[in-house]
Amino acid sequence: LTVKYGNIQALQDFSLEIGQGECVLVTGPSGCGKSTLARVLCGLIPQAIPAQIQGQVRVAGLNLLSRPIPEIAQQVGMVFQRPASQLFHLRVEDEVASGPHNLGLENTEVQERTEWALHATGLVGLRRSTPASLSGGQKQCLAIAAALAMRTKVLVLDEPTASLDVPNTKRVMETLARLREEYGITIL
Ligand code: ADP
Ligand code: MG
Repeated sequence: LTVKYGNIQALQDFSLEIGQGECVLVTGPSGCGKSTLARVLCGLIPQAIPAQIQGQVRVAGLNLLSRPIPEIAQQVGMVFQRPASQLFHLRVEDEVASGPHNLGLENTEVQERTEWALHATGLVGLRRSTPASLSGGQKQCLAIAAALAMRTKVLVLDEPTASLDVPNTKRVMETLARLREEYGITIL
């Protein structure tokens, strides 16, 4: 994969293969292209952020470069660097339900997915809380829950613990470990 923003080379001849259920950490200095990779994997590049791409990107057989974002969003869940920026609702459970709801699913299916995602991320007790009142780690877990409710098998997180203290980092890492062990989610 090669990605350029105009004259700026963000990724050059980058290759990566991840097996189902693996957890892979991509690490490197600021500006080395980590966020660019994440944006390609959720379809933001090239569909919402202009960039030139060469190469191929496949997730579960789906050629991402030729699929619309709503279809990619059902394969790849994205948690952005500042999770608060992707939270919009007044209650935790509404935040989790909004993705499946927007897919036009039956209410029972929306509820079932919401319950599952709240349980998988340990947020059941906070379901009626306001997202703004949550700790950094809880917000991160809420963004993860909202992605999971789309029933994605792949989760991409950009700097998931960069702004968290030690207890919140622990909470997020434990949640990710559980998602992998119990549900076979592939994590980057
Ligand atoms: P990282 O996440 O590893 O810090 P990025 O993927 O954000 O790296 O950035 C890779 C390179 O692309 C950097 O040189 C950065 O300045 C540049 N870049 C990132 N986003 C944009 C953008 N939207 N427009 C132009 N250049 C960008
Ligand atoms: Mg980055």
